[in-house]
Amino acid sequence: MMLGGIEAGGTKFVLAVGTSPDSVLARHVIPTHDPATTLAEAAAWFAGRGIGALGIGCFGPVELDPRSERWGFITTTPKPGWADCDVAGYMAAALGVPVGFDTDVNAAALAEHRAAGGGAGSLAYLTIGTGIGGGLVLEGRPVHGIAHPEVGHIYPRRHPQDVDFAGVCPHHGDCLEGLAAGPAILARWGASLSDLPEDHPGHAIIADYVAQACHLLFATTAVGEVVIGGGVAQTPGLARRVAARARELDAGYLPGGARHAVIRPRLGGDSGIVGALLLAQGTAGA
Ligand code: ZN
Repeated sequence: MMLGGIEAGGTKFVLAVGTSPDSVLARHVIPTHDPATTLAEAAAWFAGRGIGALGIGCFGPVELDPRSERWGFITTTPKPGWADCDVAGYMAAALGVPVGFDTDVNAAALAEHRAAGGGAGSLAYLTIGTGIGGGLVLEGRPVHGIAHPEVGHIYPRRHPQDVDFAGVCPHHGDCLEGLAAGPAILARWGASLSDLPEDHPGHAIIADYVAQACHLLFATTAVGEVVIGGGVAQTPGLARRVAARARELDAGYLPGGARHAVIRPRLGGDSGIVGALLLAQGTAGA
């Protein structure tokens, strides 16, 4: 069966079709405009390609409760026009196929979990870019809870060299996203992390905040790996700094200990779209 996948992000939608999550036959990227324009453009690209199921890994927050009438909606995003948008319903109606739907980061976590061997393993995926989000696969299953995790909005302990910056999260100020996502880095230092000189204190400060999130994930969920993706995570040396700082924060206590790892995505930049195709495969087989 031909599968369709959408990695629905706040700045672009990645569209793909393939005979399996590993066999992408065509891919297309469109910018994220208003929902009517963007969803129509996406549906038009899939039309005539003969897909039997569609998977969507979507920016959020989203509704994932299958008992809710609003399942498949983006709910409360500040992104203009996208709040209360029925993304899954629109695509299901436009294409006449079953739709699998999850957060963008849960989709990426599913893909990375499968790339790591799948099965009953556990893994977290953190994206650090224009925002920070986290997806979780525990013992083989994506975690939704009563909604879905929002790892980017925890409050880290402030770094001693970063006590004056108020943070840029519109909801929380100095949550993890407000301190360590791309816009927070730009607001403090006027450049992206990868453009700061190697000896700039920003590298240690951002690594400390991300490491606190990794430590939290190791300590609360007992995942073995935290995969860090997204634009900021591409900064050379960041994953290594985060891993080292997370080990310091652990201080030799956690029982998972030496098996905890902070790594870059095995699938490179493809975790999200491969995850969307996995969601399609899951709903096709359901
Ligand atoms: Zn926040």
